[in-house]
Amino acid sequence: MNRKDKVRTASNSPTTYTGGITLKSKQEMDAMREAGAIVGATLTLLRRSVEPGITTRELDKIAYDNILSYGAKPAFKGYHGFPGTICASVNEEIVHGIPGKRVLKEGDIIKMDCGATINGFIGDAAISVPVGEVSQEATDLMNATKSSLEEGIKAAVPGNRIGDIGFAVQTFSEARGYGVVREFVGHGIGRFLHEDPQVPNYGQAGKGQLLRAGMCIAIEPMLNIGDWHTRVLDDAWTVVTADGSLSSHFEHTIAITEDGPEVLTTNY
Ligand code: MG
Ligand code: MG
Repeated sequence: MNRKDKVRTASNSPTTYTGGITLKSKQEMDAMREAGAIVGATLTLLRRSVEPGITTRELDKIAYDNILSYGAKPAFKGYHGFPGTICASVNEEIVHGIPGKRVLKEGDIIKMDCGATINGFIGDAAISVPVGEVSQEATDLMNATKSSLEEGIKAAVPGNRIGDIGFAVQTFSEARGYGVVREFVGHGIGRFLHEDPQVPNYGQAGKGQLLRAGMCIAIEPMLNIGDWHTRVLDDAWTVVTADGSLSSHFEHTIAITEDGPEVLTTNY
């Protein structure tokens, strides 16, 4: 290794760690793009597959087959024992719903969270989708959640801090009267599904970890029509709103680059 090799930057080191945070090399960024594109394409397929009468298990199978068709692997299956390729969470379920025999019906909203691994790198993203015709309040909630994600992404630029992302999501969401889930947060991502830093959807501007080019993070706001409190069902996975109100979740894996945030899980 020559001296130049010891200068570790986002662009020249395959394994740069700064306090548990990984900065991706150019090659690693390309691998992250590939993983992200597979997740994006899978979510697009899932969105088109949602209709009254389909079960969450059938959606899970669609995702599984699609991910394998790219030579990738489902990133969630087996993660701490999770049995599904996707998390499928309906209505008041926020995240981590287990796919099963539940039949989707007109008026439901379903959140599908999907991860895929290829060449050792992982993409992670989630969407909320209406099942047939849904209420105006459900539509408004989903639109606001997607917009809050976009606000968070805009704040993910070098020189900003983690708190700027959470602040952007929180102020946008609370101004519209929604509860922002606290107990579950976004995260760094790369060779591992969950890396440092944590990326809360609330926070103070200018506080927390400095954002640097080469970081990849998953930003994933969860908004409730009611307040932000949650509880976990007896299956030990499914997280629901404590007050039973509707919840929406959107997530993208993004890269922080010198040119600004780059969405890796495109195409949904
Ligand atoms: Mg996810
Ligand atoms: Mg995630």
